[in-house]
Amino acid sequence: MRPEPPTSPADIGEAWHRIAPYIRRTPAIPSPSLSRAAGSEIRLKLETLQPTGSFKVRGAAAKILDLDDRLRRRGVVTASTGNHGKAVAYIAKTLAIPVTVCVSSQVPRGKLAALESMGCRVQVAGASQAEALEVAAALASDAGPTLVHPFDDRVVIAGQGTIGLEVAGEAPETRNVIVPLSGGGLISGIGLAVKSTSPSTRVIGVSMSRSAAMKASLDAGHPVSLKEKPSLADSLQGDIGVDNRYTFRMVQTLVDEIALVEEEEIWKAMLWAYRTHGLVLEGGGAVGIAALLAHRIEPAGPTTVICSGRNLEASHLEALGREMESPPSGPRADRQLS
Ligand SMILES: *Cc1c(COP(=O)(O)O)cnc(C)c1O
Repeated sequence: MRPEPPTSPADIGEAWHRIAPYIRRTPAIPSPSLSRAAGSEIRLKLETLQPTGSFKVRGAAAKILDLDDRLRRRGVVTASTGNHGKAVAYIAKTLAIPVTVCVSSQVPRGKLAALESMGCRVQVAGASQAEALEVAAALASDAGPTLVHPFDDRVVIAGQGTIGLEVAGEAPETRNVIVPLSGGGLISGIGLAVKSTSPSTRVIGVSMSRSAAMKASLDAGHPVSLKEKPSLADSLQGDIGVDNRYTFRMVQTLVDEIALVEEEEIWKAMLWAYRTHGLVLEGGGAVGIAALLAHRIEPAGPTTVICSGRNLEASHLEALGREMESPPSGPRADRQLS
């Protein structure tokens, strides 16, 4: 197989036009309260408003709309039960394209049923998420469906990069962009888009301190695999792939700083977002706010924080609701999260 060129800024522009009818151009709302806490002007870009509740619909739409009719008839395959799987299922269904989701034997029955009710063919394969992804990649053979990788794909990266185009267009004064970081598709795309118009704008990634795979890989100088630990930021879990093709190098060259946040800081950020802006954020969507509130990042100048998703687990939503009814700053959150 010939190596494909990496994503270019032009790819991001093309992706934006392609996906525009299927996604929302999201607002970046000012946060006076966070601006006071951080000492810089902060805006929150609300990817929570996307159909399916996370930015992942941008990459999924970019990839699937890029397929010609022949490939579309063969369908698409992926291996996520989370935000990426939801986004792929949504776009495939909208375009009447068959979709298969490979899931590991660990995935609870309820999640399988939810995928099936969205019209997905579900294939149980492998003992872990990584193994399910391998099976999905194997299914996507020459005559089979196309793999829609959750992050390590040049077209998916271009789709996520459309967020960076919107930031550059609507808030050109932005000096820092703070981005939740897992496999790195989101920050690679945004970094490429933002730096191509404003090279001095700082691109800052935030991961949870529990099993931060990209950070560990950068420190090691090559992709490394970590044992997954439970986290409130479940959408940031998972490895970057030992055979990573694009995002490791892109993060190496495009990202200026990476901050890590603790579980309690993520929970506080989720509570803060709800109390202050009536904003429901999942853990992975709240890590940027968490890093600012905990002063793990000290941005100089106007800053845009990507609030990447709102699909929190029912048990976390209930805990959030209970917390709202009790006086602030009790010790309850810690107990509930153990
Ligand atoms: C997938 C996801 C991320 C991380 O994106 P990567 O491209 O894997 O770095 C961040 N936030 C949410 C809500 C996600 O679903």
